[in-house]
Amino acid sequence: MQLFNTLTRSKEEFMPLDPARVGMYCCGPTVYNFVHIGNLRAYIFDDVLRRTLRFNGYNLLHVMNITDVGHLESDADEGEDKMEKGATREGLTVWEIARKYEDAFFHDAKRLNIERPEVVCRATEHIPEMIAMIERLLERGMAYITPNAVYFDTSKFPNYAALARLDLSGMQAGAGGRVQLTGEKRHPNDFALWFTNKPRHIMQWDSPWGRGYPGWHIECSAMSMKYLGETFDIHCGGVDHIPVHHTNEIAQSEGATGKQFVRYWLHNEFLIIDKGKMSKSGENFLTLQVLIDRGYDPLSYRYLCLQAHYRSELMFSWENLDAAQQGLRRVYSTSAENDPLTDDARYADAKAEALEALNDDLGTPQLVGILNRYGSMRLWKEFDAVLGLDVARRSRRAEEELPEEVKRLVEERNAARRARDWQQSDAIRNQLIEMGYDVGDSPAGTTVRRKVL
Ligand code: AMP
Ligand code: ZN
Repeated sequence: MQLFNTLTRSKEEFMPLDPARVGMYCCGPTVYNFVHIGNLRAYIFDDVLRRTLRFNGYNLLHVMNITDVGHLESDADEGEDKMEKGATREGLTVWEIARKYEDAFFHDAKRLNIERPEVVCRATEHIPEMIAMIERLLERGMAYITPNAVYFDTSKFPNYAALARLDLSGMQAGAGGRVQLTGEKRHPNDFALWFTNKPRHIMQWDSPWGRGYPGWHIECSAMSMKYLGETFDIHCGGVDHIPVHHTNEIAQSEGATGKQFVRYWLHNEFLIIDKGKMSKSGENFLTLQVLIDRGYDPLSYRYLCLQAHYRSELMFSWENLDAAQQGLRRVYSTSAENDPLTDDARYADAKAEALEALNDDLGTPQLVGILNRYGSMRLWKEFDAVLGLDVARRSRRAEEELPEEVKRLVEERNAARRARDWQQSDAIRNQLIEMGYDVGDSPAGTTVRRKVL
C-alpha cells in the first residue's frame, strides 16, 4: 500500500511497526454542536482508510478521541469557550451538551456506515494521563510555569517547524520581531498545556499547578500514547490541523519521550461550498439531517465523497449530490445475473486492477470508476468491504419478489391505461410510490421496483 505522508510530502510504501497490529489515531469531534458534512468527510476518510487496511489483511487498533473539554474558539487560545457557549445557547449543562452531541455524532456516523473505532476515548476521562505528560515535559525542561498557565517551550524543540514546514523567521518576540506577545508566553508559538486561574471556567480539575483545565492539544498526545504506545503507525485529521494542532501534538509527544511519535501523517482536504469553507456557524452549516430532509440517502453523500480523492478539495452542491444519488441507484441496480466476470481468471484480473487503484494512496475515485466500468455485482460486493455502500443488502432488496398486492395494483394500472383512464392510472401510481416503489412506464406496461434510495 502506498500512502501519502505529510511528513515527507510524498507517497511511501506503508510498513507497519508490527504487522500483527496497525496502530491508528484519528482526531475526533469537538462535541458542542452537530458536526457538519465537512467534518463527516473527514470521518468517511478515516473509515475508508481503516477498511482498506483490513482489506489488505492487517489487524487494526483504531483510536478516536472525543473532545468534550471546553476550548477557546481560536487556535491562539483566545475567544469564548465553545462548550460553554453551547450550554448557554441550549440551557443545558456543559456535560449534557457534550453527551448530546457525542450521541448525535455516532448517530450520523452509523447512517453513513462509518464503523466505530476500536477505542473511543473522552478527554474528560483522561485528565490524569494529561497531567502526567505535562509533568514529564516539565522534568525534561520542555515547559515552563507562569501564573496563568503551563506553556510548552517551543524553543526547546528544534523540529517544531518540520510537519507544517513553517517559516519561523520573523516570528521572534520582542525587539525586531513582528509578533507582539500577549500575556506571559515567551515565544509566539508556545502554547498552553494547562490553564490555571480561570475561575469562571466551568470544567475544572485539580493539578500540581492549581485548579484548571488542559489545553486543547495535550489530550491527543496523552490518549494516543496511552492506547497505541509512544511510537505508532498512522495519525489522521483534516488539513487544517497541520500547522497548529498536529504540530503541537508532535512537539509535546516527542518532547516528552525523545522518540518519534507518528510514522505516517495523513490529512484529508476540505469539503467546500461556494468556494468557502464549511463552518459550524452561518449559512454554510449543512448537517447530514438537512440532506436527509431534502430527500437524500446518507449513502449518496458517502458515494459523493468516495468519488473525490481525499487529498483534493471537494465542492459540495445539490447538483453533485443529485448526480451521486443517481449513480448509486445505478450501482444498486447492477444485475447479479449475467455478471460479466463469472470467469474466475477474468475476475481475479479485475480484482487485482481494482485493488491496485485503491492501494495507490486510497484511489477511491479510480476504484469506483473501475467497478462501474466492469459492471460486475460480484466485484461491487467484494469491494463494498472498503466502500461501505451496503451494496449486497440494497441490491437484494431491489430484486425481491413483489408482494401480491403490488402485482394486483400493477395489473389494475395497466387496465386503466388501456382504458385511457389517466386519472385512475395516476392515482395507482401515487399509491405505489407511497408504498415505496419506483414506478415507470415501458411499452410492455407499468414497471415497478422497490425503491432502495
Ligand atoms: P473539529 O470538530 O472542528 O475539530 O473537526 C473535526 C474534523 O473535521 C477535523 O479532522 C477537521 O480537520 C475536519 N474538518 C473540519 N472542517 C472540514 C471540512 N470543511 N471538510 C473536511 N474536513 C473538515
Ligand atoms: Zn487531535
